[in-house]
Amino acid sequence: MGTGDKIRKDTDGIIIRINLKKNEWIPILSKALVQKTISEVHDAAHLGYKKTLKRLRSSFYWQGMYADVLRYISACWKCQSSFKGKQYTALPQNIEKEGIWQTLAMDFCGPFKIDEEGTINYVLVVIDMFTKFMEAIPTGSMSTDETIRALSLLFNRYGIP
Ligand SMILES: [Zn+2]
Repeated sequence: MGTGDKIRKDTDGIIIRINLKKNEWIPILSKALVQKTISEVHDAAHLGYKKTLKRLRSSFYWQGMYADVLRYISACWKCQSSFKGKQYTALPQNIEKEGIWQTLAMDFCGPFKIDEEGTINYVLVVIDMFTKFMEAIPTGSMSTDETIRALSLLFNRYGIP
């Protein structure tokens, strides 16, 4: 939450985020509706991520909007099928599974084209081999710095394996 933001419920019980500076009230989208809403905005014209995000932001707010939109476009068959750089690498299979969050497999997917200007995005996929829990973190490149940044985000959230 930025400064000047408040969350409250409106008369219909919809949770809204209020930006006091701009005097804007924007409904907070429930997680269950995120995929459907992104697809409604994106799929009509297969907009790039900036435009998709801009349109979504004018009507909704939810935590992790940026990452969700990047993930969606990176996985959009139509957006990626025209893009020649795409490649997937297979994840390692026969890894010893010791316990939850003990053995992680990770790999980059991509590159993905995420807008009309040809901006490139990668997704670092991390899988817990024990539970098959998967997290996908968008990154700007496959550099060591970006990998460390992405993993720190993950370890901040779930702890260090
Ligand atoms: Zn698309």
